[in-house]
Amino acid sequence: MKKYDHFIDGDWCVPDSGDYLESIDPAHATPWASFARGNASDAQAAVNAADRAFNEGPWSRYSMPQRCECLIEIADLLEQRWPDLVEAEIRDNGKRISEVNGQFAGLHSWYRYFAKLGLEIESQRLDNQVPGVINHAHYQPYGVVVAITPWNSPLMIAAWKLGPALAAGNTVVIKPSEFASASTLEFARLLSETSLPAGVVNVVTGLGQEVGEPLVTHPQTRKITFTGSDFGGTKVAEAAARGIKPVTLELGGKSPQLLFADADLDNALNGIISGIFLSNGQTCVAGSRLIVESSIHDEVVARIVERASRLHAGDPLSLRTEIAPLANKAHLDKVLSMIAEARSQGALCVHGGERQYPAECPEGFYVQPTIFTEVTAQMTIWHEEVFGPVLAVIRAADEDHAIALANDSKYGLAAGIWTTDSERAERLAAKLVAGTVYINHYRSVDPGSPIGGFKSSGYGRELGPDAVRDFMQIKSVWVGSAPCADPFPAQSA
Ligand code: NAD
Repeated sequence: MKKYDHFIDGDWCVPDSGDYLESIDPAHATPWASFARGNASDAQAAVNAADRAFNEGPWSRYSMPQRCECLIEIADLLEQRWPDLVEAEIRDNGKRISEVNGQFAGLHSWYRYFAKLGLEIESQRLDNQVPGVINHAHYQPYGVVVAITPWNSPLMIAAWKLGPALAAGNTVVIKPSEFASASTLEFARLLSETSLPAGVVNVVTGLGQEVGEPLVTHPQTRKITFTGSDFGGTKVAEAAARGIKPVTLELGGKSPQLLFADADLDNALNGIISGIFLSNGQTCVAGSRLIVESSIHDEVVARIVERASRLHAGDPLSLRTEIAPLANKAHLDKVLSMIAEARSQGALCVHGGERQYPAECPEGFYVQPTIFTEVTAQMTIWHEEVFGPVLAVIRAADEDHAIALANDSKYGLAAGIWTTDSERAERLAAKLVAGTVYINHYRSVDPGSPIGGFKSSGYGRELGPDAVRDFMQIKSVWVGSAPCADPFPAQSA
């Protein structure tokens, strides 16, 4: 079994408690690694190291071009060495190797994008109406940023936070999920081969309440970026509010796919199937609610069922595998209980709905791709995020009905529209309450495109043209170029 310690101030540090948490390989239900179980004392050590690196270390004296050089160095290393990181992530969260290969082979380009963005940031001269002064906006880093990540795509989501935070000049403490910390720690090992000064990036592991919250509340923590559940996000936002700290929250979703009879069905079905069954539905933008125009409902359901029934469940380390395990046992139990609840509330399970036991991984946490019809907007399966391979299908009489169903959600992360009528697509894109809308396409993410949610899917954005500036504060600097007027001229006379 591999044993991982915290990575603090450029060194591997045993946890203050002496305790470790087991990581269970979800394909085989066996422990494969252990991680330091962090506590408040470890959080303090990590934030203190990051604070020293920000205020005293060489990092604070680096110019933007020097920082961006460091990002390019990270990118160059990742471009060569990403294969070293793949197995750690798969053993932790069970993600399919073909998906992890795809994500990791492109990771370097995210860091290159943030380096390019950083170089574009410069102070701005501002218009003002005050005579005899010049006013500039300067962009400055916050200081210590705490980045809290979930288990579904730990290293990619870490890149969304780490790249721009570093380009902006902050130092960072990453707290990966207690279910999937290995790839982030292996990445930290890679970082120690670069010229990045010690303490600029730190990784502490453990449970959210035990080590995540002390990271958030540490007085030297200046900004928090969180990706995870709305429950975890609420806790983090409450803790951050007590210290008046800015937070970016990337939370859950229950994203609708609106499918109309005039759509190119072959294309739409590819998008809809990838939206819910790729990554086992364990993506924030999973298109888990299918709203389909009544006239094509039966044909669409039959075709999705046929496609789902051909998906091959197997070892996530095999390139043949199409359905990998769910990430952990607690999550498997949650998904199965939500399926049971959907049945008990009257939804009709037309495919899947059971745990499955692939021959090569009979103990693994697998669930069948599952499709429910006869769903109503009152059912839990329509409203609550499953974060699993479970599609809820509902009929829409027309466009107005479809948009009403789509927006009837506490979430607002993403939405898909499938139609060949471009005017309708634009009309609906404007009305959808979602941070990302895909038209005749689904699921892309790109460093150049902002991602984030409306409503309970969070606030703030990551990625996109403002990604680096989002990790900076504006300082307004006024310079007088004319004598200051005497404020009390009568006294001077
Ligand atoms: P989670 O909220 O259980 O955990 C996420 C992280 O938060 C973990 O590192 C956890 O230890 C930490 N955490 C939990 N409680 C905390 C607390 N009180 N203080 C500090 N840290 C705390 O989420 P998860 O189960 O790991 O991830 C799945 C969720 O993430 C889903 O809801 C999914 O939609 C969401 N997600 C969102 C996006 C997005 O971009 N919007 C991307 C991926 C995943």
